Amino acid sequence: RQTVCVRVCVCVCLRSRMSMDEVVLRARKAFQSGRSRPLEFRVQQLKSLLRFVRDRQTDITTALKKDLDKSEQASLLYEVMCMEGEISLALDRLAEWAAPRPVEKTLLTITDQVFIQPQPLGLVLIIGAWNYPWVITIQPLIGAIAAGNAAVVKPSEVSVHSAKVMQELLPLYLDQEMYPVVLGGVPETQELLRQRFDHIFYTGSSSVGKLVMEAAARHLTPVTLELGGKSPCYIHKDCDISTACRRITWGKFTNCGQTCIAPDYILCEPSIQDRVVEEIRKSAQEFYTDDPDACPDYTRIINPRHFKRLMGLMEGCRVALGGTGDETRLYIAPTVLTDVSPDARVMQEEIFGPLLPIVTVSGEDEAIRFINEREKPLALYVFSSSNKVIKRFITETSSGGFLANDCLVHYTISALPFGGVGNSGTGCYHGKHTFDQLSHLRGCLVKPLGFERVNGVRYPPHTPRKLRWA
Ligand code: NAD
Repeated sequence: RQTVCVRVCVCVCLRSRMSMDEVVLRARKAFQSGRSRPLEFRVQQLKSLLRFVRDRQTDITTALKKDLDKSEQASLLYEVMCMEGEISLALDRLAEWAAPRPVEKTLLTITDQVFIQPQPLGLVLIIGAWNYPWVITIQPLIGAIAAGNAAVVKPSEVSVHSAKVMQELLPLYLDQEMYPVVLGGVPETQELLRQRFDHIFYTGSSSVGKLVMEAAARHLTPVTLELGGKSPCYIHKDCDISTACRRITWGKFTNCGQTCIAPDYILCEPSIQDRVVEEIRKSAQEFYTDDPDACPDYTRIINPRHFKRLMGLMEGCRVALGGTGDETRLYIAPTVLTDVSPDARVMQEEIFGPLLPIVTVSGEDEAIRFINEREKPLALYVFSSSNKVIKRFITETSSGGFLANDCLVHYTISALPFGGVGNSGTGCYHGKHTFDQLSHLRGCLVKPLGFERVNGVRYPPHTPRKLRWA
């Protein structure tokens, strides 16, 4: 897999190095032509994108099988259906999203039209990550098209098969000049980042997010950074631990833990730790059988580098479940680590794999303190049957998103802004939020030339009488 990756990257480098500036320039010119502004064009492109997702379902699921050994069903559920849902929503609501939005007026502007007019920003750069290589790259593109922008799309080079299919097939459906797909790794992305864009939409790690923001600052380009981090999961002892652990097992081991909002670690009282391990064991067995290695619903680690990193993170930890791996098949068993010290290596970086450490705390006070002493996470999960406990976490902590008594599903609600805060990201997307994120929300006021006497109060001389009116 590594050899294929290197070979494709090298050949793509050679091909794209000569044409990167040209591709960007061409996309900018396409935007400047004005053809992406009319809603008819945007609707037609979105319909074509929907056709692409439906016609090319097999190409997409086959690429995902090669990249992550994802089952066809998982690919349909977590990638294809998500894309379809977002495109259909945009097609349904585009006219409403793009329409002028009237706002409240003041006494002095009562005769005027005062509204917000969403406008395309221009040329957007979309940089994708590899864990859900389709949905993560195409969702921002849906918003970019809906908002009337041009976009250069750079999928992750790590999910090499998906990237290749995207580059080969997407241009057959979309305006090729307006929405080019470029391939490449770090040097190509850095080359892209030297160019001027009107918005950069980046999904990936927080460390690379800083480089993206730095590069964007050179042109004062606004950014959306969809980053990661360690998303905590607090289990309160009052809750139905069996149900909680079933949902956590699903949230953690889906895509083999390679999900930006996967629960990264559990916080719970020592008295329930063994029960938690037992319930996770039962759920993991129910979902992935006694032999997850042979289970088609259990995904693989993306590459040997991440396999080695994950195996290394377990060192020195007490393994209560799993802990085994096979590098030749990039398999790591669903793993639970107990009594993990906050200083352990596994607690210092985002895990992004099927290892679930449990850190014991004395109760909700310590859990809240623990969370607040660390970087703001992308998601925070709390399992409790007490509304009081849930509300405490909502008001006393901060995270990109919050979910009580379940995992991941907030991602599927387009009405909710999806994004991080602080170290886990800036800006948000999904549904109308993507449209707004990639639009300039222009404040507009259109005044009639009549009613000039009303304006008298603001013209000098500023007498006390006029001030009383103002
Ligand atoms: P990554 O940051 O290594 O790579 C992401 C993209 O950045 C790729 O396209 C890559 O080519 C490019 N890149 C990598 N290094 C670069 C550099 N030095 N200069 C310029 N560009 C560079 O991230 P990844 O490994 O693909 O993804 C995993 C991370 O992404 C995790 O932290 C995860 O939490 C996060 N993530 C976040 C979300 C979200 O929606 N918030 C979704 C998926 C993944």
